[in-house]
Amino acid sequence: MKPFIKKTSLLLGAIVLILIGTVLYRALTFRSMQITPEERVLPEVNLERAVAALSSALQLETLSSRDPSEMDPGVFQALHVLLEERFPLVHQKLRKERIGGLSLLYQWPGTDSSQKAIVFLAHQDVVPAPEGDAWIRPPFGGEVADGYVWGRGAMDDKGSLIAILEAVESLLEQGFQPGRDIYCCFGHDEEVGGYKGAAVIAATLAERGVKAEFTLDEGLVIVGGDMFGVDRDIALVALTEKGYLSLELKTESEPGHSSTPPRETAIGALATAVTRVAESPMSARMTDPVRHMFRYLGPEISFPMRAFFANLWLTRPLLLKQLAGSRTTDAAIRTTTAFTIIEGGHTENVLPAEARAVVNYRLLPGDTVEAVTERTRRLVNDDRVAITPTCEAYPSPDPSQVDGPAFATVHTAIRAVFPEVIVAPGLMLGGSDSHHYHVVTDNIYGFLPLRMSQEDLERMHGPNERLGIEDFSRMIMFYATLMETTAG
Ligand SMILES: [Zn+2]
Repeated sequence: MKPFIKKTSLLLGAIVLILIGTVLYRALTFRSMQITPEERVLPEVNLERAVAALSSALQLETLSSRDPSEMDPGVFQALHVLLEERFPLVHQKLRKERIGGLSLLYQWPGTDSSQKAIVFLAHQDVVPAPEGDAWIRPPFGGEVADGYVWGRGAMDDKGSLIAILEAVESLLEQGFQPGRDIYCCFGHDEEVGGYKGAAVIAATLAERGVKAEFTLDEGLVIVGGDMFGVDRDIALVALTEKGYLSLELKTESEPGHSSTPPRETAIGALATAVTRVAESPMSARMTDPVRHMFRYLGPEISFPMRAFFANLWLTRPLLLKQLAGSRTTDAAIRTTTAFTIIEGGHTENVLPAEARAVVNYRLLPGDTVEAVTERTRRLVNDDRVAITPTCEAYPSPDPSQVDGPAFATVHTAIRAVFPEVIVAPGLMLGGSDSHHYHVVTDNIYGFLPLRMSQEDLERMHGPNERLGIEDFSRMIMFYATLMETTAG
């Protein structure tokens, strides 16, 4: 063998060995991030009271609408009265205010109000239950049957609202006094953006100088079923939610008879613009919440996948490709582009004066409203297409801390009540009230303490929404434990 070739193959061999060594070393030292809480007696809760309260609350059709005149304030006020009746101590010991018309803000003063507060969020409003959906029990019946409380809002989000109040009521009965302020904020228009509710509550708190250690809102849930090769259930805690931007693309052209058309009609120009945008999805990348998710899940996975996740410096392109393969995971790695409306013309032989389409983007952390709007303009590259936002847009708030005490507290409370699960951070793909609260805290966590299957997730805005009574009991215990441990 010539000395040069010998040298080269020796060098190559050494590189391969170092590579294999690094990969193995990283996999073997991939340390579990799970916290094992100290043994503790879980707080006692009054499940019977909570179930009765939830059942009554589900009978109230607290529908929200973008047009406030379409909302029935009476039904929200009835809910407020119901809460007063069911949770008397809460209403004696906490300061309650109505904000933004129908939203509720409770302040539970702690012994040391100079400490940062803890803020629990839930929403009072629900989405409609259209007739014709296959409900096997009345959507606003609040029936308790087969181990479930049935009705629109059971999971999203009255279950959580009642569980939070039941946790406070139980702790008050046991004489618990928080060491710092606890706030419970219940918006009334989350399903339509939270602009009259959560936004106003958050602004009020900010105006009063309230600083929160963290807020905890609905968000991700406990998922099961072999996700990424983890053979245990995973409690996913959202570190942030994706941002939101809807843009209207509008074209105009001279109306007239279709027998003498111009080269391009309003519809033709719009179609070209839509194609240009739709055919250029935004590129995939791994943001911090997703990277942290794999840092938490990786050590719980067995070889060889564990080595794969321990070495994202090497395997990231492969992982991104894998994630792009399914709609749900693809949405976690890119700003998604979805055309949701297209309109134009009304008669087959008349040229329309205008045509419009709406594209809805869900923004990854780091992608700004301005940059994505500008990119759309560049792609369309046609001055005849007017591009304007259709409603309030917002970027994804900066991801919350994962290595500080706030996340550790939530993590510990989850493992205390659900010792069988793995905790991992994540990114919430939809929207919630949470993003309004970044004016009072850097840490907006999104976690609904509820085990949900794919089928359960479909019930959330679909038919047969229900909450298991056993699950409800653990939800309440989770909130009570978190209140005890963060503010005890
Ligand atoms: Zn909700």
